[in-house]
Amino acid sequence: MNIEELKQKMKVLPKHPRIYPPYKIHWNWDISFKCNYKCSYCEVVRRDEEFNTQIADTDKWREVWNRIFDNYWCTHVRFSGGEPTIYPNFLPFLGMLLEKHTVDITTNLSFDLNKFLDKVKPGGLSISASFHPEFTDFETFFEKLKYLHFHGFPSTLSYVGYPPHLDKIPEYKKRLEDLQMYFKIIPFIGNYKGKKYPEAYDARERRLLEGFATDSKDEHLNDMNSRWVEWRVEKEENKETRDTKIKLGKLCRMGQMYAKIHPDLTVTRCCAGYHGQQSGSLGHLLDPNFKLLDDAQPCSVDYDCPCFKGMFVGEEEDKWEPLWESLDHPIYKVEYMREYAKYLKEQGKK
Ligand code: SF4
Ligand code: SF4
Repeated sequence: MNIEELKQKMKVLPKHPRIYPPYKIHWNWDISFKCNYKCSYCEVVRRDEEFNTQIADTDKWREVWNRIFDNYWCTHVRFSGGEPTIYPNFLPFLGMLLEKHTVDITTNLSFDLNKFLDKVKPGGLSISASFHPEFTDFETFFEKLKYLHFHGFPSTLSYVGYPPHLDKIPEYKKRLEDLQMYFKIIPFIGNYKGKKYPEAYDARERRLLEGFATDSKDEHLNDMNSRWVEWRVEKEENKETRDTKIKLGKLCRMGQMYAKIHPDLTVTRCCAGYHGQQSGSLGHLLDPNFKLLDDAQPCSVDYDCPCFKGMFVGEEEDKWEPLWESLDHPIYKVEYMREYAKYLKEQGKK
């Protein structure tokens, strides 16, 4: 494809193109820590009182996300929380966001399916559903998940490795994998029966988690599940490997290719430390002059890096780069940006 063809395909050239993998900025947005469920093992809803959650209307969001598109082109927004779908006017906002960006929602799937289908069209949206057995039964949940997955919204199921829920994993995992759907296991972090997890997983539970993390036919899923277990469970115990998690002073692309948006709309490089502040604040999302970092910067965090997908420059690229693959936008495809990056690098050499 020559540059003129490429420009036509891209429609708009960004002011600040991202010329390094994964070529697309990823936002992790804890839109609020409010939730309509109250799972006994939940570690996040209590964080709601830490933030003054900021609500904006769809017009304001359109202005903000158009500006981000003009600066960086199509980005990927990963909503988490809390339950993102209970944010006021979430569905119209989501429909708007998908015009120029791609989205993944971590959701307990409690939203009304008809209202969702009315406002949100397939293309560029994936669903990371988390199944919480204290608030819904598996069959109801699975029916909804299957419907979404097979009607244009690629969906996966995440399941917290809460000790009393571990034994159901083989059955649920098989049900999903029989349909070639992903089942992700999230090792539990928190307290159960007076013990602190993940350190307190016993040998049997640990074997179960490790086994589940590697027994899928899909190698990409095995890789992802194993990295979670390795990062959260195994390295906790081993001092030598734990030291490899300290990245202080090393170049990292978080803040350039990734940023964390908090419920009060402050933006930080990553989630390290209280409200991500130790990693470095980048500003406020509603500020018209808000900008990401232009280059990789040294890590300023002097303790364990919390991210198993950390974008360390010159280190483990072969491991972390594939983990940032996301759904493509129907119009603004990542391959165009990859091509454009190649062109810009060649021009730079000249
Ligand atoms: S659904 Fe998720 S955010 Fe909501 S209470 Fe349960 S674990 Fe917490
Ligand atoms: S703590 Fe990890 S993810 Fe955050 S800036 Fe440092 S190396 Fe990057």
